[in-house]
Amino acid sequence: MASDSPPAGASPGPSPPDRLRIVLVGTQHPGNIGSAARAMKTMGLSRLVLVAPERYPHPDAVALAAGAVDVLEASTRFETLAEAVSDCRLVLGCTARSRRIALEELSPRAGAARALATTVGGGDVALVFGRERTGLDNDELQLCHAAIHIPANPDYSSLNLAAAVQVLAYELRMASLQEPAHGVAPCVAGRPAEGPTEVRGEPPATHAELEGFFSQLADTLDAIDFHKGRTPAAAIRKFRRLFLRAGLDAREVRLLRGMLADAQRMADIAHGRLPPPRKPAD
Ligand code: SAH
Repeated sequence: MASDSPPAGASPGPSPPDRLRIVLVGTQHPGNIGSAARAMKTMGLSRLVLVAPERYPHPDAVALAAGAVDVLEASTRFETLAEAVSDCRLVLGCTARSRRIALEELSPRAGAARALATTVGGGDVALVFGRERTGLDNDELQLCHAAIHIPANPDYSSLNLAAAVQVLAYELRMASLQEPAHGVAPCVAGRPAEGPTEVRGEPPATHAELEGFFSQLADTLDAIDFHKGRTPAAAIRKFRRLFLRAGLDAREVRLLRGMLADAQRMADIAHGRLPPPRKPAD
C-alpha cells in the first residue's frame, strides 16, 4: 500500500497546490505576468515566481491580474532559474517547440499527473515558462527533468505565455479534482515510486542536490580523461538526461557522489598527485 504521508526528508507542511510553483523566466511584457497570475488563481494556484523579469513591478501587470493581485503581491523573485528551483524535486519546462533538445517530452496531462503525484509525496514542483520572444534557452531546459509541450497546431504552436500557463493550470486542476483527497501514488522525481515510500524511505533529490552531483560528475569526467579531447558539452547533456530520467533520491545521489570521489582519488594517485594507498600488512 502506498502511503499518503510524505517520505522522510520531505517536509509535511504545505498542501499539494501550495507545493506547485509557476516560474516565469525573463518575461518581457508585464501584462503577461498579470494575466498569468489571473490564470493561476482561477485554477487554485497561488505560488508565482519571477526570474529576472524585464519590467516588473508595472501597472500593466496589476491591470491584467484583475482579481488576482494577491498572487502578484505574494510573488517572489530570483535572478536565475537555478536559484528559483533549487529546493524543487521536480522541474518541468514548458516549451513551444517540440524538440530538438535531449529531454523527455510530456503532454500537459501527463506532466500535470507527475507534478501532482510529486507534491502528494511531499516534494515541491516547478512548472517553468520562457520568454515571449525566445522561450527557454538550452541551458535553462537542461535544468529541467522533462519538457512539456502543448500539442498545438504544428504550423503555429506558440501560445501566448499566459495562455500556456492557463492550459497547464487547468490540467493541474483537473488532475487534482480527479484524485479524491489528492490520493495519487507518490512519485520519485515525478516517476511512479517503485514501492511504498515508507520502503523507499527517501524523497527524490532536490534540484540543488542534483546540480551538486552534476558539477562533481563534470570534474570527475575531466579527471579520468573521459572526453579525450572532445568537447564535454554533448556527453554532459547525455549524462544529465540519463540521471534526470532515473529519478534519483537523495541517498542514491550520495552513493553516486561517493563513487565519483573514489574515481577522482584513483585518478589523483595515477597522476602522482596523491601517494598510492598502503597495502594492508599480511
Ligand atoms: N517564441 C518562443 C515562444 C515563447 S511563448 C519560442 O519559440 O520558444 C512563451 C512561453 O509560453 C514559452 O517559453 C513556453 O513556456 C510557453 N508556451 C507557449 N506555447 C507553448 C506550447 N505549445 N507548449 C508548451 N509551452 C508553450
